[in-house]
Amino acid sequence: MYNKLKSHVVLKGDRVFKTNLQVNILISVILGILAGFFAKDFGSFYSFLGKGFITILKYIVVPLVFASLVSGVISLGNLSALRNMGLKTLTFFVGTTTIASGIGIFFAIVINPGNGFSLPSAQDAAQSKAMTIKEMLWQIIPTDFIGFMSGGNMLFLIFMSILIGVILVGFGQKIAFPVDELFEGFNEFMMIITGWVIAISPIGIFGLVAQLIITTGVASFIPLLKYMLVVIIGLLVHAVVILPVLIKLVVKCSPISVAKDVLTSLATGFTTASSAATLPILLEDVRKKLKVPNKVASFVLPLGITINMDGTALFQSVAAIFIAQIYGIPVTLTSVFMITFIAILASIGAAAVPSAGIITLAMILTAIGAPLEGTAIILGIDRILDMIRTTVNLWGNTTASLVVTKWLGEDAYAN
Ligand code: ASP
Repeated sequence: MYNKLKSHVVLKGDRVFKTNLQVNILISVILGILAGFFAKDFGSFYSFLGKGFITILKYIVVPLVFASLVSGVISLGNLSALRNMGLKTLTFFVGTTTIASGIGIFFAIVINPGNGFSLPSAQDAAQSKAMTIKEMLWQIIPTDFIGFMSGGNMLFLIFMSILIGVILVGFGQKIAFPVDELFEGFNEFMMIITGWVIAISPIGIFGLVAQLIITTGVASFIPLLKYMLVVIIGLLVHAVVILPVLIKLVVKCSPISVAKDVLTSLATGFTTASSAATLPILLEDVRKKLKVPNKVASFVLPLGITINMDGTALFQSVAAIFIAQIYGIPVTLTSVFMITFIAILASIGAAAVPSAGIITLAMILTAIGAPLEGTAIILGIDRILDMIRTTVNLWGNTTASLVVTKWLGEDAYAN
């Protein structure tokens, strides 16, 4: 019964996927833009479609991350394989995040977007509150169970899932019941549900785009154009030069065809501005289209969307320097190192949801002695940058899954 259900749904999902999904997404983006400009009266309907889609994605994230990480660790078979993959994955994460932050700092210092910027009167607007490093670590043992179940604490979820996987790898043989098969089945079940959600993604994307056009408008961008440009140039360099060069050098395949294969994920990340919400779709793309082995995809991606945020670290580095420039705070060599180091932590601490990066930005501002009110200035236009940096975060994690596969001596992107 289960197999019959599975083959039926998977077949149907594949059909939707191969024939139309990417075209449908493109059409829904265009329709969303048109609707946002010319049919503003239906704002609450667009918002319903967009928010509804994100809510559905959020519901499946917790069980999906759990199932995928536990079965990923189990499929490694032994603890030294886990240690090996863990070290390689973390090396890649820290390396690329450091490069991303460096790129942001470089462009922010060279272009100097804060130069000639007169402070708008928005300084009394929202103050962001970031977690301290200690609070971030304490998240690993949460006290709020309900918040955890709704995806509010990814660090704990990851910690617990890996721990359960490790216990099962260590003691699994002694348990009579086939727990590994149970998790495997659960994982496949979650993938089937994901297939359904992917099929309806164009509707959600339409709603999100229309709503964005209505609420943000175009006029609010103008005074902050230079700052936005620096962030976007930095993100482009990282996404179009650094990560593709890594793919080309290590994986030895065409970055363009890799990008085409994960286009649905990138488009979903762009419109939802949430890596966590996009995870189900990214997992599907990376496993099925990039043919990354399940044990790597199941480990690297859930971990990566939570702690490997190249785009976020880059944006935070530019934003910190921009705010320092506006307030006349000198950017010294020490503060540059500080920014990079804390940007790595702040991007780890940022939840993979919209606007998380601008909240943990406060960690960097505090460290370099810049006023937290600075975030208020960039808050108004953050959504669009959030969409772009989330796409880069997802692209960074796609690259991570391919590179780690290769480093483990396996075939990456084998067609
Ligand atoms: N929205 C980003 C993400 O989900 C995080 C951020 O705000 O930078 O990846």
